[in-house]
Amino acid sequence: MKIENYIRDIQDFPKEGIGFKDITPLLNDALAMEEATKQLLDLVGNKKVDRVVGMESRGFFFATLLAKELHAGFVPVRKPGKLPFDTLAQEYQLEYGMDVLEIHADAIKPGEKVLIHDDVLATGGTAEAVCKLVERLGGEIVQVNFLMELSFLHGRDKLASYEVKSLLTY
Ligand code: AMP
Repeated sequence: MKIENYIRDIQDFPKEGIGFKDITPLLNDALAMEEATKQLLDLVGNKKVDRVVGMESRGFFFATLLAKELHAGFVPVRKPGKLPFDTLAQEYQLEYGMDVLEIHADAIKPGEKVLIHDDVLATGGTAEAVCKLVERLGGEIVQVNFLMELSFLHGRDKLASYEVKSLLTY
């Protein structure tokens, strides 16, 4: 089974010039989702993982599945104002302007081993901000993994000090 057959390219979404990688066909197919989860777990190998961090919102889908399989807790990173408890916030650069991501202050304890997951690695700004949040809480990042990597955007360069893995590279 080829995971790439379950990724749909939508041109000019959400704005002109963007080739959007739509994972809903993958989520819609039980066997494909199971296979993608298995392949992501293979990327993790036998690393010890205490927490899996997923970023809003498409990162949540597989991060929770990975957390269950790894017997680890799941931690959501969200857009500002969504998390109800005490939060840490991290600003990051967008193409135009800045954005902010938040994590609950008690979500990760110092020394915990953390796997970070998102659906797509593009410019790397989002993942870099999540790495900073995890490290500010004292977490140790054991891997940052993605379903897909848009290698022409060089997001990996921002994550050079981490192990970065992707199932599919475009
Ligand atoms: P970046 O911070 O540029 O690496 O962007 C990564 C975030 O934006 C991820 O959370 C992705 O879900 C989303 N994203 C960026 N580019 C795309 C794309 N071409 N298709 C789908 N999602 C994308």
